[in-house]
Amino acid sequence: MLDMRKENCIFCKIMEGEIPSSTIYEDGDFKVILDINPAAKGHAIILPKEHYENIYELPEELAGKAMVLAKKLAAHMTEKLECDGFNLIQNNGEIAGQTVFHFHLHLIPRYQDGNNKDLLTWNVLQYQEGETDKLAELLKID
Ligand code: AMP
Ligand code: ZN
Repeated sequence: MLDMRKENCIFCKIMEGEIPSSTIYEDGDFKVILDINPAAKGHAIILPKEHYENIYELPEELAGKAMVLAKKLAAHMTEKLECDGFNLIQNNGEIAGQTVFHFHLHLIPRYQDGNNKDLLTWNVLQYQEGETDKLAELLKID
């Protein structure tokens, strides 16, 4: 039985074959497809076959497998595309740029002579004195 999110999800529809996609890899856990609006030639996205909205929902085991797959594909795609660099990008939540709410990991080849607009830029903040110590204390994890 499909849940509501899944029924309305573009990537779940791709998984069911209801929407076509250009698949470059598939196994029991993931499908990797070419992004329909690529930031660069060969831009692909790793999609878990099951619907998880974001990194918070994704089970640890699949998170680990996704990163191992990203490493393999980065090497493979770099060789085939002869790109000069590679970005892994993963957005969670609207404010973070997520537009499809089914976890996905972007694989973006970068070319020396390509469209070299920064994919992620930020204005650097200044910490107040002592703020980094407090933050490190807050964020410390065993
Ligand atoms: P994000 O902004 O991180 O949520 O990325 C969503 C990505 O999904 C965008 O880069 C879209 O171009 C891509 N996308 C949306 N619909 C499709 C589709 N039908 N096939 C392939 N990629 C898609
Ligand atoms: Zn989905």
